[in-house]
Amino acid sequence: MPDMSPPLVEAVGVSRRFGPKPDLAAKIALRLGLTKPAPIVHALDNVSLTIRKGEVVGLVGESGCGKSTLGRVIAGIIPQSEGKILWQGAVRETMKPAERRAADLATQMIFQNPMAALNPRMTVEEIVSEAPRTHGLIPKGKRAAYVDRYLRFAGFDPTMKGRYPHQFSGGQRQRVNIARALAVQPEFLVCDESVAALDVSIQAQVINLFMELRDRLDLTYLFVSHDLGVVEHISDRVAIMYLGRIVEEAPVEEVFRRPNHPYTKALLAEVPRIEPAKRRFKPVEGELSSPLSPPKGCHFHPRCPFAMERCRTEIPKKKEIAPGHLSACHLNDA
Ligand code: SF4
Repeated sequence: MPDMSPPLVEAVGVSRRFGPKPDLAAKIALRLGLTKPAPIVHALDNVSLTIRKGEVVGLVGESGCGKSTLGRVIAGIIPQSEGKILWQGAVRETMKPAERRAADLATQMIFQNPMAALNPRMTVEEIVSEAPRTHGLIPKGKRAAYVDRYLRFAGFDPTMKGRYPHQFSGGQRQRVNIARALAVQPEFLVCDESVAALDVSIQAQVINLFMELRDRLDLTYLFVSHDLGVVEHISDRVAIMYLGRIVEEAPVEEVFRRPNHPYTKALLAEVPRIEPAKRRFKPVEGELSSPLSPPKGCHFHPRCPFAMERCRTEIPKKKEIAPGHLSACHLNDA
């Protein structure tokens, strides 16, 4: 049954391009034909994604497919070039400043490298209390108790809050990052490869922590990862990205049991599995095309064993092939 709870956050037709902004001299040179336009990276191309309240949506794809860019755009860290982001049904860009601040605070991001995300000159207590103090969330005289509460939520011993980030392991630092994000009382966490830099045993602990926090604090997640095993474990629904587009989207069981898109099938073949039935897909052959000049039509066509003539020219539309299961492949039109 598709989940009918209200959307918390939606990306609608979002594109994001990266390239140098030409100064006046460059614009004149371009107009006179003295120079070529600077190369543009097409990181996202007309992406739409809905995340419902309480859901964990896993966003997967190979390195360079645009998944981290989509996470950052949805989190409001970088702006989109086209399209819109809706928070609880309201377009983020047209919100009043106070509403926008509340939406920004309700969305927090947890990054891959826990050390790079922490100020090495601040103690854990200062790190965790900085943002909630700025936003007036800490009751007067209760700073220590407030910090301790959120450190405990993150599974971090509050008696160590006077120490600095370099005095901790990677797993403990990531717990500090999680406590810092939780301390502003968010509703939605964007986790960008948040366990990728941790040892496997610590990864499992942090993933379990995310799941506990979801129930305890009623959180919604966008979980960006290149690791299908992690995504299968943590997600309710999975979106598969290929070169700036979402090519398949479905409940987690459906994606792993009945993948539809040739790219998803190829990706699943790369996950080591015990069940023989799931070993039958071939690995993704060939290289990811450059986002500087993505192929026309279906972006996957240069690597797809089923590519037809129309795949080279016509962009496949996402089509519902089963309840809640969308796939963008011309094979579904046959
Ligand atoms: Fe392959 Fe064509 Fe489907 Fe793209 S649209 S995945 S090239 S069959």
